[in-house]
Amino acid sequence: MANNIRYFIGNWKMFGEPKSIAILNKINKFVKSDKKLNKKYKVVITPPHTLVQSYAKAFSKQKIIIGAQNCYHKDNFGANTGAISPYMIKSVNAQYVIVGHSDNRAEGDTDEMLKNKVENSLTNKLKVVFCIGENKDHKKNNKTFNVLEKQLRNVLDKKFNSKDIIVAYEPIWSIGTGQIPQPDDLHETVKYIKKVLKNIFAKQSPAVLYGGSVDSKNIGQFSSLNEIDGFLIGGASKSDQNFIDIIKNYYK
Ligand code: PEP
Repeated sequence: MANNIRYFIGNWKMFGEPKSIAILNKINKFVKSDKKLNKKYKVVITPPHTLVQSYAKAFSKQKIIIGAQNCYHKDNFGANTGAISPYMIKSVNAQYVIVGHSDNRAEGDTDEMLKNKVENSLTNKLKVVFCIGENKDHKKNNKTFNVLEKQLRNVLDKKFNSKDIIVAYEPIWSIGTGQIPQPDDLHETVKYIKKVLKNIFAKQSPAVLYGGSVDSKNIGQFSSLNEIDGFLIGGASKSDQNFIDIIKNYYK
């Protein structure tokens, strides 16, 4: 197993208000109490930008880590309405940033922008969760491997520090649909992603996560797939009980 640490990364998307910190307090309490296993995994939560600063402050010395869901692709400051740079995210002590989520690709993020986002985030000492994934048509037409390889090669550069990059494989057809890949297909796909990553980064390859409709009921199906280094969890991360049960059931 290349990477022993498992990641459970919650992507809240457009969810959360100040009082939603109660959800994170419960998750944090669970991780703290999970003394037998909690050295084996990291929990990262990415709330919306409005909550990043206060949550990062609240959990700075705790078990869960706070990240952001997206960032602007260049500059630290600038005349860009609504934009938030990696520098600004780091300045409020968030530690991770998601880049290349299919939601943002659909809104116009190009490979060139994503490469700049990754580079700028790494320069600002953020760890990057870089998302890739095929859509339904790519899958139907057996284009999955081609699409994933292109997404990886067009953005990840061998000069980047691979230790600070995590790749999240998120098939678009699986996000929010309740559909998950067949275990054999997932095994082959993650193996392929790792092969491409090894080719880009000769020395140490980034960890590879799976994301798409993961919940406490289906997580057991992923436990035996050792090549998966963790999970990016959307809908189910908004419930402390579901998120905690995902961790518990993964290690059952
Ligand atoms: C996501 O949007 O990154 C995601 C994985 O969502 P869900 O778990 O809800 O499918």
